[in-house]
Amino acid sequence: MSHALTQLLWPAVIVTVMVIAVEFLAGRVRLGVRRGTISICIGLGLLIFGSALSVVGPRNPLLRVPPLNRPLTRVFLRERICLSGGAFFLACGIIWRVAAVIGHRDVKSLRRKCRRTADELSSAQEVLNSIVRSSVSGVMILDTVRDEAGIVVDFRCRFMNDEAEQMLNRKASVLLGEPLLQRVPCIKTEGLLFEAVNVLETRRPFRDERCCSQDGREKWFQIAIVKHGDGLITTFTDVSRRKRTEEELRRTRRHDALTDLASRPLLIDRVAQAITRRKRLPEYTFAVLLLDLDRFKIINDSLGHEIGDQLLISVANRLRANLREIDMPSRIGGEHVPSRLGGDEFVVLLDGIADARASMIVAERLQDALGQPYIIEGHEVTTSASIGIVTSDGEYERPEDVLRDADTAMYQAKNTGKARSVIFDERMHKEVLERLTLEKELRQATEEQGFMLNYQPIVTLETLALKGFEALIRWPHPRRGIVPPDKFIGLSEELGLIIPIGEWVLREAGERLQEWRERRPGGLLSMTVNLSKKQLMYPDLISFVAGVIKQFGIDPPSFVLEVTESMIMDDIDELTPVLAGLREMGVRLAMDDFGTGHSSLSFLHKVPMDILKIDRSFIMRSGKADRYDAIIQAIVQLAHNLDMEVVAEGVETPEQVALLKSLNCDFGQGYFFSRPLKESDAAEVVANDERFRKAA
Ligand code: C2E
Ligand code: MG
Ligand code: MG
Repeated sequence: MSHALTQLLWPAVIVTVMVIAVEFLAGRVRLGVRRGTISICIGLGLLIFGSALSVVGPRNPLLRVPPLNRPLTRVFLRERICLSGGAFFLACGIIWRVAAVIGHRDVKSLRRKCRRTADELSSAQEVLNSIVRSSVSGVMILDTVRDEAGIVVDFRCRFMNDEAEQMLNRKASVLLGEPLLQRVPCIKTEGLLFEAVNVLETRRPFRDERCCSQDGREKWFQIAIVKHGDGLITTFTDVSRRKRTEEELRRTRRHDALTDLASRPLLIDRVAQAITRRKRLPEYTFAVLLLDLDRFKIINDSLGHEIGDQLLISVANRLRANLREIDMPSRIGGEHVPSRLGGDEFVVLLDGIADARASMIVAERLQDALGQPYIIEGHEVTTSASIGIVTSDGEYERPEDVLRDADTAMYQAKNTGKARSVIFDERMHKEVLERLTLEKELRQATEEQGFMLNYQPIVTLETLALKGFEALIRWPHPRRGIVPPDKFIGLSEELGLIIPIGEWVLREAGERLQEWRERRPGGLLSMTVNLSKKQLMYPDLISFVAGVIKQFGIDPPSFVLEVTESMIMDDIDELTPVLAGLREMGVRLAMDDFGTGHSSLSFLHKVPMDILKIDRSFIMRSGKADRYDAIIQAIVQLAHNLDMEVVAEGVETPEQVALLKSLNCDFGQGYFFSRPLKESDAAEVVANDERFRKAA
């Protein structure tokens, strides 16, 4: 049995070794035969051979199956070996084949993937190359150069694109592989070496704009540096043109186009710096002068805008020249900044000026300089400046506040005679605050119609009977008490509030007139209402008055509207149709405060009026100087000649009453008869006007 096994094992081992050798060689030599195929072929061959033996064997007596007790015949053995060897080979081959097919498929797909990735990589590489080559930015790949201690001391250029060559104005052949610091010195001067080392150490990219002086020219580059291995990739774009445009824009914004002085933003900036410096260094002081040219509007309107512009340029030049010459002993750095705010308004920041007195001296010198005549296109032009001065003693927080106060002081200078300098003080500040509060309260009062009317009787001088009333507005204020009209009418005109206020007065007075006329024996009574210029200019005035007349059923001639000479004088052509329109409606017009304006008596011929009110200042002086009596007499006669009635204002004494009577004046109004009355008191007078006769 052991012999048989040995006989069976040896051929099997030999065959296996052969197969392995063949397969190995096939795999190595790449016969083109697929792995496992040879094994399958050999296995099949052996199986066929073994089968043939098993067919041929039984016919051959030699080959007949040996009895159990006889040793195995050779044929029988070979048949067994062939069959088992064939089966073994076949099994191995199939396993090999299956494994090869599976492996091959994986390998194939892996190979395909690799090929695709390689393709993609190479196309990406191409794209990258084209981007880098066609880029408008310069690109450089730099290797570091380190000293023995490992410290970066320089860079070597490994790659640079065409644009980099152009921007640096150096050929790649000169730079590649060479230390850069010597050849591109701005790396060192602009601190780029430090930034580059920082990128290497921190891996944080760097991006900034730097101005590099190159071959004697300044160029601005936008530079980006990123770490790449132990080196860097740097891209840089020439942004010089953009920078120049930005600079130009900044300059235009910060400089006045006409005079090339600093403009408002730059001035605000410099004043803000001065405020900050003042807080840090208490010994530092500054002042701001706000100059407004006097009569500039007249020059501009009469000689034309071109001459106006030339004048502004000359003023700017004189400012510049005079500020250059002035020495300021207590200056801490800085320089004076002359600027133009717009129109004919200039501001000078006196940076480091000693005190208010020194500012005043500068202001006077500037005034002297600006006040000298200018010769512009053959015209001799003269102007002067009103100057408002603010010093840093005010401990300001915001530049806008400095300018606001300088403006207030400048207006003060204008109002007190022009060509003057005024230093802003606390009192002015209080006035400004006061005005702001008043504005707020007046707006509120207008909204709430928080006003009241007083009524001052107008008396017929001959009979001493009540003729009518003048409605006079009052503002009952919770804190200020009863505010008289001269304290708020001007402000309400400025704020445009006079329109709603005036409409309220017209309605209120109209309603009272109608109410009192019904109570009055004979129904004769007039109501006089004051109008302001803004109201006269208001296009809806005529229709509003018509509405009031209609609403209360007023007899139009009993409704009197008062205007002053000065109101009409400047705009006589524009306002005459409005006055005519009111008269057409039947309403009567009175010329208030006559004699205080600058009009001549001939003025009365031009303007259609029904009543003339002689101003209080004439009545006051009457009886004391004959001259005034004569003037009053002339006015009364003239008015009568023009079919006008005459009211004397401010009648305070019985002598005045007697004189006015003797001069044929029709009516009187004044404290002698009555002060302006509350509504209820006025209503009593309507019912009984005996008091005027008793008073006389
Ligand atoms: P006006 O129209 O000349 O009014 C007469 C002013 O003289 C009133 O002052 C009156 O109180 C005052 N007055 C009257 N008689 C005498 C007198 O004998 N002696 C003295 N010293 N003064 C006398 P008031 O009420 O303060 O008004 C001042 C001005 O305010 C008015 O001057 C008028 O121009 C204006 N005004 C009053 N109410 C209104 C209004 O409703 N609208 C407009 N736009 N202005 C008004
Ligand atoms: Mg009046
Ligand atoms: Mg008056």
